[in-house]
Amino acid sequence: MRGMVLDAKWEPKPSYAVSDWEKETGKAITGNAIWRNPKLEVRDWPDPRPGPKEVLLAIQACGVCGSDMHFYETDTDSYILYPGLTRFPTILGHEFSGKVVEVGKEVTQLEVGDMVTVEEMIWCGRCIPCRNGYPNHCTNLEEIGFTIPGAFANFIAVDEKFCWKIDAIAERFGSEQAAYEVGALTEPSCVAYNAMFTRAGGFKPGHYVDVFGAGPIGLAAIGLAKAAGAGMIVAFEVSPRRLDLAKAVGADFVYDPRQVSPSEVMMELSKGQGFDFHVEAAGVPEISIPEMEKALAINSRMVQIGRAAARVPMYLESFQVRRAQAFGAQGHSGHENFPNVIRLVASGRLDLRPIITAHYDLAQTVDAIAKSVERSDGKIMVHPS
Ligand SMILES: [Zn+2]
Ligand SMILES: [Zn+2]
Repeated sequence: MRGMVLDAKWEPKPSYAVSDWEKETGKAITGNAIWRNPKLEVRDWPDPRPGPKEVLLAIQACGVCGSDMHFYETDTDSYILYPGLTRFPTILGHEFSGKVVEVGKEVTQLEVGDMVTVEEMIWCGRCIPCRNGYPNHCTNLEEIGFTIPGAFANFIAVDEKFCWKIDAIAERFGSEQAAYEVGALTEPSCVAYNAMFTRAGGFKPGHYVDVFGAGPIGLAAIGLAKAAGAGMIVAFEVSPRRLDLAKAVGADFVYDPRQVSPSEVMMELSKGQGFDFHVEAAGVPEISIPEMEKALAINSRMVQIGRAAARVPMYLESFQVRRAQAFGAQGHSGHENFPNVIRLVASGRLDLRPIITAHYDLAQTVDAIAKSVERSDGKIMVHPS
């Protein structure tokens, strides 16, 4: 088959102490400290064969993620920008949907022809965090499109336990093609859902919600806030095109945070009461969190989704006086996240179709990732089949 393969050189930065585990497994915990001179190309790759518990999927759609962009971009010493768990060479791509074309002999839940989307995090179910119910914090994690072959490819083999059927979405849209595209948005939507509702406990209908960053995760957060009955939704984002997308999926007001003071805007819109639920999806907490902190409603919550290796000053007095809470969130697995997002999409209450702004064939995947670097699109979709 064909796949978009990333290869890079294992050349740890002199300042980085490579652990024994990293040497043994070939997996870098901090990718940007080890992988140098990344090369991305669509080329031949061995056909995957499904194991006994696995299904073989013909991949129909795979979205380009911000992390894919951080494999394409490098720092001045030619190291990748992505700071997370990685092992190369591998095929990138982890936000996808596909059709089951073959099943292993111990597969019981799926059959040939089923339409599914898939979790990206291959949690083990055996480590202590998994056994305690925290699969997003698995200590034996493999990640599709990061440490094991991903979905910018014709086929992938995955354990059936990571697959979720999207036939209800196909019924909603009356088209398999639309279901596969929308289905490929499930993973990033679940990242937002997991953060807002599973981790931070959600908000009450009527509450005022602000979202910093209107990339795909922020846009999903806006759509989810709308579906969950927010009384007002405000988005802060620097790209004019993404501000339009934010409105299209449910934001009542959108602003470029370079042109306004976000905290003053929130205090004005809430008539001095502050906002109840704050979502950081911009990955610039050093800028966004201090603004949220100045607009905390009493009993408010803030949740960090964007990734940024930055230390943020927080004035805890505000959290005491305003009875506020801050939550950290990562991942998308477990906790009913996938099935509930699929239900919201199938019901029409969460409609993220407007955020898909570009389409590419598998052969043009590198161009698709290069396009994402402009940071003005919503979700760019690659169609391997
Ligand atoms: Zn992603
Ligand atoms: Zn585990």
